[in-house]
Amino acid sequence: MALKKPASMEECIYFTQRTIGKGEVMVWVFKQQCPKCKKALMGKPRDKKGKVLTRAKEYACPKCGYTVGKEEHENSLMACVEYTCPACGFKGEKQAPFKRKLIDGVQTLRIQCEKCSANIDITKKMKEAKKK
Ligand SMILES: [Zn+2]
Ligand SMILES: [Zn+2]
Repeated sequence: MALKKPASMEECIYFTQRTIGKGEVMVWVFKQQCPKCKKALMGKPRDKKGKVLTRAKEYACPKCGYTVGKEEHENSLMACVEYTCPACGFKGEKQAPFKRKLIDGVQTLRIQCEKCSANIDITKKMKEAKKK
């Protein structure tokens, strides 16, 4: 199974690429269609000048204005993960619910290597965590 890759950042609500020890990981989460009007993709709201409000606590439909809480929306999405396991070097890909857990005090998206079951942690970037 090959995961669908985003053609541009515009299609994603989340995208990151990291090096973890000897491995690496790429995570992306596609935007989802508005459940109400089904005519546009849910995304971060924009201000009057069209600038994306990245710190917004909600997602909004640009067509009908439907909004949903940030966490509620993100928890309903699937994250696509492509990884090279830092423990065994296995290259794999998987989909996992886009749900972060608090691990060692940091919001973390944790997946397991399909081959050796090692944990692969995609933590929220520190500078994001500190800004509160
Ligand atoms: Zn809508
Ligand atoms: Zn592994």
